[in-house]
Amino acid sequence: MSTKNKDKIIESVPQKGFFGHPKGLSTLFFTEFWERFSYYGMRAILLYYMYYEISKGGLGMDEATAASIMAIYGSLVYMSGIIGGWVADRLLGTTKTVFYGGILIMFGHIVLSLPGSITALFISMGLIIIGTGLLKPNVSTVVGELYSDKDPRRDSGFSIFYMGINLGAFLSPLIVGTVGQKYNFHLGFSLAAIGMFLGLIVFVLTKKKNLGLAGTYVPNPLTKEERKSVFAKIGIGAFMIVILGAITIPTGFLTIDRFTLLVSILGIVIPTLYFIFMYRSPKTTEVERSRLIAYIPLFIASIIFWAVQEQGSIILATYADKRTQLHFAGLEIQSSWFQSLNPLFIIFLAPVFAWIWVKMGKRQPTTTQKFAFGLLFAGLSFLVMIIPAYVNGTETLVNPLWLVLSFFLVVLGELCLSPVGLSTTTKLAPAAFSAQTMSLWFLSSASAQAINAQIVRLYSPETEIVYFGVIGAVSVILGVILFMISPIMKRYMNGIH
Ligand code: GLU
Ligand code: ASP
Repeated sequence: MSTKNKDKIIESVPQKGFFGHPKGLSTLFFTEFWERFSYYGMRAILLYYMYYEISKGGLGMDEATAASIMAIYGSLVYMSGIIGGWVADRLLGTTKTVFYGGILIMFGHIVLSLPGSITALFISMGLIIIGTGLLKPNVSTVVGELYSDKDPRRDSGFSIFYMGINLGAFLSPLIVGTVGQKYNFHLGFSLAAIGMFLGLIVFVLTKKKNLGLAGTYVPNPLTKEERKSVFAKIGIGAFMIVILGAITIPTGFLTIDRFTLLVSILGIVIPTLYFIFMYRSPKTTEVERSRLIAYIPLFIASIIFWAVQEQGSIILATYADKRTQLHFAGLEIQSSWFQSLNPLFIIFLAPVFAWIWVKMGKRQPTTTQKFAFGLLFAGLSFLVMIIPAYVNGTETLVNPLWLVLSFFLVVLGELCLSPVGLSTTTKLAPAAFSAQTMSLWFLSSASAQAINAQIVRLYSPETEIVYFGVIGAVSVILGVILFMISPIMKRYMNGIH
């Protein structure tokens, strides 16, 4: 975007009105709060909905398949960010894209709120995958547009926004989860739909006044000729997918397992191609090439980290349901509530971490070392889960505090890695690709979950010790290696810390 347009946007945004931040931040905060409320609320009960018996209101799937579906679903939700970035950049601009995304998400939850079958589940997933791809990366991009490049409030603006995400993620398992598990899954999903509806209302009613021109520009619009050819290609592509589906699904060729494998492969292939493309592009300079090389280990670390973190809603959720004492200290605990622990710890600890980094000033760990800590804590969060099975076997139910400890440890890692992740991506990606950095960063979560789709099916109480042990150890070992290579990384990063 030209500097002139940037200046115009900043002028159009009321620069005060939300905790000393531009007023538009409140619009984005609450929109994303409700979107995450709907997403994480839905995910807190989706796994159980899939594998609970039909007599208990579920779909009666087998557990390994349900776990894999959770992972590919998560993967596609982040992969589709690439589409969202493209639509905003070339067709609609960010705010319109966010709006359409919200509508699709809401309908996705509505489909699940009606009693239905596995087909309804897949339709809902399709809507939420595309909808989130349109909404999530773009709503974060608009946050950046509210501030001038030199505005010192910029980073804290992102931190406030991050609180909105986690506040939504914290409340929804308690609300959607309780209603979904205690009363009826569909009623739970309808609360998720209502959440997204409220998010849309906030967005539509306040965007004109609060966001000004932010997100209204189409940075790199398609020309008339390009439009024709692109739409023709999209049309042909969509047609081919429908035909392929129509042939492969009824004939039984496209099974869930094969589809899962396909997504897992895409999860590796897409980022690899992306890196090759950026590396070889004539627009990438020599210095940028070296930075790109340095970004690869960080990207891999991020994949491993998110693979462990995201298993919180799959493997640890299964553990909460099957292996944990849910009558504890006089309380009747719902297994979905454990999903609130991660965001709860984030809300309390994010300011503490920010304070620690400021206090440490120049002595704070480098970005590479922070990523290494991320891996160490993620690994530890799995390694501690060996202990209950090791001490008591897998026949007796486990004290819920073990899960609390595990979620706590992973959050320590998340706070080392996640807040710096996006900014590091922005700094290390070549300037010609800066518009796509949001999608690039989310791609690490997509790949993580694409890999998870294969791994999570290996978990069962019988394999528990080996499962937590191997994944935990791999993560710790990679963390140590990353720590050791951090001086070399510094050289390749060419002045970026
Ligand atoms: N949990 C965060 C969110 O939902 C981070 C997502 C990610 O990068 O995987 O926004
Ligand atoms: N901590 C995650 C994020 O920042 C939320 C979650 O996993 O519940 O949004």
